Amino acid sequence: MTNTKLETLKNYIGGEWVEVNSESTEEVVNPATGELLARVPISSKEDVDQAVRVATEAFHEWKEVPVPKRARILFKYQQLLVDHWDELAEIVTIENGKSFKEAKGEVQRGIENVEFAAGAPSLMMGEQLPSIAEGLESGVYRYPIGVIGGITPFNFPMMVPAWMFPMAIVTGNTFILKPSERTPLLANRLAEFLEKAGLPKGVFNIVHGAHDVVNGLLDHENVAAISFVGSQPVAEYVYKRGTDNLKRVQALAGAKNHSIVLKDANMENAVTQILNAAFGSAGERCMAASVVAVEETVADEFIFLLHQKADEVKIGNGLDEGVFLGPVIRESHKEWTLQYIETGEKEGAKLVRDGRKDENAKGEGYFVGPTIFDHVSSNMKIWQDEIFAPILSIVRVEDLDGAIALTNKSPFANGACIFTNDGGKVRQFRETIDAGMLGVNIGVPAPMAFFPFSGWKDSFYGDLHANGKDGLNFYTRKKVITTRWV
Ligand code: NAD
Repeated sequence: MTNTKLETLKNYIGGEWVEVNSESTEEVVNPATGELLARVPISSKEDVDQAVRVATEAFHEWKEVPVPKRARILFKYQQLLVDHWDELAEIVTIENGKSFKEAKGEVQRGIENVEFAAGAPSLMMGEQLPSIAEGLESGVYRYPIGVIGGITPFNFPMMVPAWMFPMAIVTGNTFILKPSERTPLLANRLAEFLEKAGLPKGVFNIVHGAHDVVNGLLDHENVAAISFVGSQPVAEYVYKRGTDNLKRVQALAGAKNHSIVLKDANMENAVTQILNAAFGSAGERCMAASVVAVEETVADEFIFLLHQKADEVKIGNGLDEGVFLGPVIRESHKEWTLQYIETGEKEGAKLVRDGRKDENAKGEGYFVGPTIFDHVSSNMKIWQDEIFAPILSIVRVEDLDGAIALTNKSPFANGACIFTNDGGKVRQFRETIDAGMLGVNIGVPAPMAFFPFSGWKDSFYGDLHANGKDGLNFYTRKKVITTRWV
């Protein structure tokens, strides 16, 4: 039975689907149509307590399961995800709005995380030095840390939870997921597949809801660590409250990503890449291109070509053939986006393409067409704020030095891209730009599962990032044993 079809979603605790004893629910709607898909319960602190109790008990047995046996469950899980790829992508499109093609790509990214985590027997290995002194040796062993709380955003209902729970559980921890209340459907399907793959009860749990669940996890003494992904103010709050309670916290936050187009760039590639990075997933990506700094001499050409391509974009329900640009997540988010378009005009930027005028933007569903501002400057709110919508700001710059200085003024520092064929300029960019994930001649430099998702500055709070060896280190702790042979 697919739990996603139920009117009011249930929590998943200790391998059981648990009805939530709460009056409070929120509507889950399809942003392309406004259709009500389900209700999500707003669970309480008591529901969190129940989940933590179960996850704490499960931890005692789960951590003793040999690592290859834990990994084998992920192998089965990976196959189930592959077998249900289209179904999973369809759920993502229905609850989030992104195109089916994008959703399939997102599922792929999630599967890659499972594949990486399934390498746990190698990843969990320690290190030894047999002779640190005469007759003396030392070795490092790696262990899980306990119950992990995972709190995720609406924009990647598959990929972001998969940044967390596969690595967390395969390393021997137990896990409680608090999915976004705006896109909670897919999580329940992920739980069903984990059960099918043979994961013991209580190792993976879901508590649906909002702030109370987050605070319940942040304050619970038996929660060892928190993985958070979401907006900047909430990430900062989660990091501060979690670390105040002496937990390990990794909090991946908001962004305002800058691309730089130099005059020697392959213009067609730059335009194609930036179009996708700015307007794909309706700009609701933490790696979306939000600002482009273009060298003045090629700015007119770049904007002309971008405008032309943006006009060709098919806007609509992500399940329809050939659709590239779906809706933003909610009516309220559409209103917020339209306000930013007004703000940009008032601030004096030149509105080159107005996404309010696209046909779909006037009908049902929460659509905004590709919107392009030219002559943007860093004192404008449209340059400064994360809008998280299909709005692109273009700044004209003299040269690379100017572009880098401008980019480095942003408090956010998730991704940055450069479009050029000049190796020296690529090196200058790499060495002087303040951002954690860089792209050269590509628009969305999101690292694959094997590398850390390494935002800087206000785009990340913590020490160890999600994914790659950072993820492994975040979910494990070490013992160092020193032995004298006598
Ligand atoms: P959000 O911050 O509104 O919500 C994220 C999670 O926090 C949700 O589960 C939500 O229920 C919870 N939450 C929200 N407000 C809270 C509060 N006041 N107290 C406690 N918990 C709260 O983010 P969103 O709108 O769902 O997602 C979009 C944001 O996530 C964007 O800012 C985007 O850049 C960011 N994001 C960042 C990354 C990254 O890797 N850095 C990846 C994806 C998304």
